[in-house]
Amino acid sequence: MPTASTPTHCPYCALQCGMALSPLPTGGVEVVERPDFPVNRGALCGKGRSAPAVLSSGVRLTTPLVRSGGSLVPAGWEEALDLIAGEFARVRAAHGADALGVFGGGGLTNEKAYALGKFARVVLGTSQIDYNGRFCMSSAAAAGIKAFGLDRGLPFPMEDIPRTGCVILVGSNPAESMPPALRFFDELRENGGTLIVVDPRRTRTAEHADLHLAPRPGTDLALALGLLHLIVAEGRIDEEYVRERTTGWEDARAAAMAHWPEYVERITGVSVPQLRQAVRLFCEPGAAMVLTARGPEQQSKGTDTVGAWINLCLATGRAGRPFSGYGCLTGQGNGQGGREHGQKADQLPGYRKLDDPAARRHVAEVWGVDPDSLPGPGRSAYELLDALGSDVRSLLLMGSNPVVSAPRAAHVEERIRSLDFLAVCDVVLSETAALADVVLPVTQWAEETGTTTSLEGRVLLRRRALTAPDGVRSDLEVLHGLAARLGVEKGFPTDPEEVFEELRRASAGGIADYSGISYRRLAEGAGEGVFWPCPADPADLEDPKAAEAGSELTEPVDGGAGPRDGGAGRQDGGAGRQERGTPRLFLDRFATEDGRARFVPVSHRPAAEEPDEDYPVLLTTGRVVAQYQSGAQTRRVDELNAAAPGPFVELHPRLAARLGAAEGDALAVVSRRGRAVAPARITPGIRPDTVFMPFHWPGEGRANSLTNPALDPTSRMPEFKVCAVRVEKAAGTP
Ligand code: SF4
Repeated sequence: MPTASTPTHCPYCALQCGMALSPLPTGGVEVVERPDFPVNRGALCGKGRSAPAVLSSGVRLTTPLVRSGGSLVPAGWEEALDLIAGEFARVRAAHGADALGVFGGGGLTNEKAYALGKFARVVLGTSQIDYNGRFCMSSAAAAGIKAFGLDRGLPFPMEDIPRTGCVILVGSNPAESMPPALRFFDELRENGGTLIVVDPRRTRTAEHADLHLAPRPGTDLALALGLLHLIVAEGRIDEEYVRERTTGWEDARAAAMAHWPEYVERITGVSVPQLRQAVRLFCEPGAAMVLTARGPEQQSKGTDTVGAWINLCLATGRAGRPFSGYGCLTGQGNGQGGREHGQKADQLPGYRKLDDPAARRHVAEVWGVDPDSLPGPGRSAYELLDALGSDVRSLLLMGSNPVVSAPRAAHVEERIRSLDFLAVCDVVLSETAALADVVLPVTQWAEETGTTTSLEGRVLLRRRALTAPDGVRSDLEVLHGLAARLGVEKGFPTDPEEVFEELRRASAGGIADYSGISYRRLAEGAGEGVFWPCPADPADLEDPKAAEAGSELTEPVDGGAGPRDGGAGRQDGGAGRQERGTPRLFLDRFATEDGRARFVPVSHRPAAEEPDEDYPVLLTTGRVVAQYQSGAQTRRVDELNAAAPGPFVELHPRLAARLGAAEGDALAVVSRRGRAVAPARITPGIRPDTVFMPFHWPGEGRANSLTNPALDPTSRMPEFKVCAVRVEKAAGTP
């Protein structure tokens, strides 16, 4: 066990705050601030500060559990692994490989995500793998790929935010979801910049804004179109930029011109003067950014909605220029890396596409298998969960808790219960693990080494700081043990660095090229990480041909727009590597074939479910500062529970008066999919036509019992952010 303080990163959100863990004389570790890490400069939210509490043996699993006579009972590792391998072999023989499913998580390290994708395709031979990151930011990823040819949450470091002129923050509440990030927006305003927050609620983040726009949930697409309409009408387009660095403007312009400000006011509830004020602030000369998060993304039109906001950046020349651009504030700890290395249904490592023959050949060669043996793309996350118990008979689930976090959760829970066989790897007995046939207790962040990729595309090394409790094994050891039992003796090392070395080779030449990154390099200096793409020097790789191929992004620029005004660092212009990788993308060219960004013409359409007589109110869901995602870990920490003990229904005083409800009264929120009960929290900071519920809790207050699984046609992301509900007073105390 390390005896000195170990620099590492928080296990929770995608900000990946730097921290150090110092051993305590009594055993265990305590969190120590790391002011040298530039993203959080020592600041941590309560979740990060209290993270070691989940390491304690009191709240976690330390022995495998197998179901016997209806209950989960302790078992040995060999027995548990034999049982899983035996069941998987039986189901595969009886129903085919696609009857086996794998469900991963955005909290898994890059090494685990990579190994899990390889395990599904090489050992099980199934196409049925996806992960909960699909629920997190896949619409932003799809829109980014359409417009820029590449998806990296932020194409610039967070430290650029205070150096821009104006930020429009759409459907994001960093004051609750990643509090240390709020200082970047405060510094922006101290530097004379402006912050516009778009959110149906007057959140703690909106309190920091110069302008708060509160559109009706599900109408941010119309809002962006209305702003673009005004920008055109007021002659604020950057004509030269549009001509030289983009394509498709005329169609996007025509679509926006159909969205008159008065029409947009009727759809969104945002007044025309407010629209004009937003345009005036955003179009001040100089740099500007648009940042989105789950608000616009978790919609059945999320890809188009994000596309509309990207169009706004492109029309005003605010992408691929210093301190300007569009970015997505990714949510989960490794939401970014998790979608780059193969646990997504359509993806191979390096952000390669599973249906691309060249990508299949490259990865198959690294894996030592026939490219034709690799299955094709499978179902997206919700579709996979919906197929459980029918097409998919057995599931391996790693680092996810869909019984709480999936939309239409009661239905998903029923699907999970109908499986022939469920195996779960987790650190605690989550609500989903409690339904399993076998539960494997695994190591967590501070007990293992691995890399994550933050919302900035910054690859970071999280180092082991203490020894795991007896009886616990790593996810990599689980995959190694299962692979061996299923007849694949090689190719699943248990050493994370060995896995990362293979990942480097598999990613070489891909969009997310990690081939120039090594553990040694990540450990160097102040541990500030390395931004992808970071292609290798040929000499660094066992397979020099792959490195010579270079990243698709770093090919020399020929023609196109040529370099823009510099000052903020540039995209690497050759196959060589920069010390920090590529902190800023697109300064010379976009990652499209012609190097130009693409406008995508989009038009407003309503949410999949609009209010009606029976369900007259809109529900939107989100997070609170003291809990994280499904709460599997944070609900086990006393100080976080004291701060956020349970769910609530936030509603406007006018709606409360109509219901005759007072603060704290039990309210039932009913949708076409289910019912949830929680106490009323009355505030004028929410629209009168909308209620809000946080989604961290199971049981009768489970917000996802209500949410709508209507999927975006491109990203296959469910519409968590808007559905129609009825609110009524419930008997008793929640
Ligand atoms: Fe951890 Fe995110 Fe809080 Fe930072 S903001 S301490 S990464 S949960």
